[in-house]
Amino acid sequence: MAVPSQLGSPPLRAAAIIDSINPATQEINAQIAVTQPADLPAIFARARSAQKEWSGHPLRERCAMLCRLRDAIFARRDEIADVITREAGKPRVEAIFAEVLLALDTADFLARQAPRWLRPERVPHHNIAMKAKSGWLEFDPLGVVAIISPWNYPFSIPMAQVIPALAAGNAVLLKPSELTPWSGQLVGELVAQAKFPPGLVQVLQGRGDLGAAIIEAGPDKVLFTGSVSTGQRIAEACAKKLIPSVLELGGKDAMIVLADADLEIASSAAVWGGFMNCGETCISVERIYVEQPVAERFTQLCVEKTKKLRLGPASDPDAEIGPMIRISQLEKVEVQLQEAIARGAQVLTGGNRRPDLGANFLQPAVVTSVDHSMQLMREETFGPVIAICAVASADEAVALANDSPFGLSASVWTTDNRRGREIASRVRAGSVMVNDVASYYGITEAPHGGPGSSGWGHTHSRLGLLEMVRVKYIDVDRMPRVAKTWWFGYTAELAAAAGALLESLFAPSWRGRIAAMTKKHGARGVIFRRNRI
Ligand code: NAD
Repeated sequence: MAVPSQLGSPPLRAAAIIDSINPATQEINAQIAVTQPADLPAIFARARSAQKEWSGHPLRERCAMLCRLRDAIFARRDEIADVITREAGKPRVEAIFAEVLLALDTADFLARQAPRWLRPERVPHHNIAMKAKSGWLEFDPLGVVAIISPWNYPFSIPMAQVIPALAAGNAVLLKPSELTPWSGQLVGELVAQAKFPPGLVQVLQGRGDLGAAIIEAGPDKVLFTGSVSTGQRIAEACAKKLIPSVLELGGKDAMIVLADADLEIASSAAVWGGFMNCGETCISVERIYVEQPVAERFTQLCVEKTKKLRLGPASDPDAEIGPMIRISQLEKVEVQLQEAIARGAQVLTGGNRRPDLGANFLQPAVVTSVDHSMQLMREETFGPVIAICAVASADEAVALANDSPFGLSASVWTTDNRRGREIASRVRAGSVMVNDVASYYGITEAPHGGPGSSGWGHTHSRLGLLEMVRVKYIDVDRMPRVAKTWWFGYTAELAAAAGALLESLFAPSWRGRIAAMTKKHGARGVIFRRNRI
């Protein structure tokens, strides 16, 4: 397996390196050199000069380059999956589906679709006075975009933002999480391999202080994915400099299971949706509201299926649940579980450590007898726990699902698709799936991003691409010799004509509008006058 160039060379100075650690074994995978804040002016200068050249390339040419990136990812797909499994601890199947596939699909899709989505768009005018003009929207690059990423999907999250940023003609400064620097390094290598101009995508390695320094140095936009508390700090830093931002923050996703749902499928979805990536997914199922008549059976199925899950390191191809990223993350989950238990929650299975497998392994837990006074139901857990709450009705389920500061995604389970859609539209979330969980994240056309503490703005889809551009309106007057009635040359007659125009356009009845048009007020003469100045 290829490893970063730093590996094998003499150990770097302590302050100047970040260790890439295998969370299953605590072994050091690689040592990555830290970017010094003092180098940022030169880094920005390189990015700005590369962006100037890049944005001069025709849109189609830029998008065609994405095919080269796709091919580079494909050629190194096994190595990418290896790096992700060793650094983030997730099973190989998840690294392939949720990381490599997503990156490949984004590059492939945007290579074809972005030229259509970003070409100038005609803006038809409904107002009769503006019919002589033709309007256009143009989508200009922003300049230098800073992408600050988390560790839980260390390859697909940055890739799904770098790719549209490039298509739109921007340069990118990517700061991967300090917990997954090796995966971030790969992004830079792949871009270089695809022969994008040097300096167009620069990977800056470091901790939060480097992220803060990048924002301080003044990028044209910040795309941040991470926790609510860091998101708040970033929003504040951006506001001070009026830098626009996209914030993809936490989630506390609800699953609503109606009495007519297929319980076999819904319970499998709950277990997969709650425990994939060891529950360390912003859109993982954390709260389940199930209608009373089926609550017992549903819970029983969830418990049975959870007990069958195989824990282990990613080096075991049969392992389904890997380690948590760090012991500190595991401890946060334990604190929530203990608080819930103290308030009367019941853990039906799991919740205990598995030191026989390694320090970071936690048995996935199914918890019942929960309520909204518990942290477990209010704060993001970000670990392998699903909490099940029986409800009297779908209305109660919707009310509880919406009783959260978060609103990233949700799901509704029913055999009645119409009812499912109707309930989905009442749930406050950026995305709601009916009879599936989380997979919308892999639908390149589907936008991602939710309200409240889940952040603002979008990634993925056309909305995500439009976050990477400055929208400019261009208007061409095709008949400039026709006088502009509203220009100087104001008279009482013109004011009367203007009043008549309002009546003819907006009088509440058609009769009033027609009367205004036929009224003798000399409007015609005024409208077809020559401009005085
Ligand atoms: P985090 O907030 O600790 O760190 C995220 C990134 O921000 C890291 O690269 C970190 O170095 C950087 N950072 C930290 N302080 C900074 C500062 N002051 N200025 C600039 N950058 C700074 O988050 P994490 O632990 O890496 O990720 C887990 C969180 O991310 C969870 O809350 C999860 O829900 C969220 N997340 C959200 C999405 C989404 O799409 N909404 C996706 C994945 C993860």
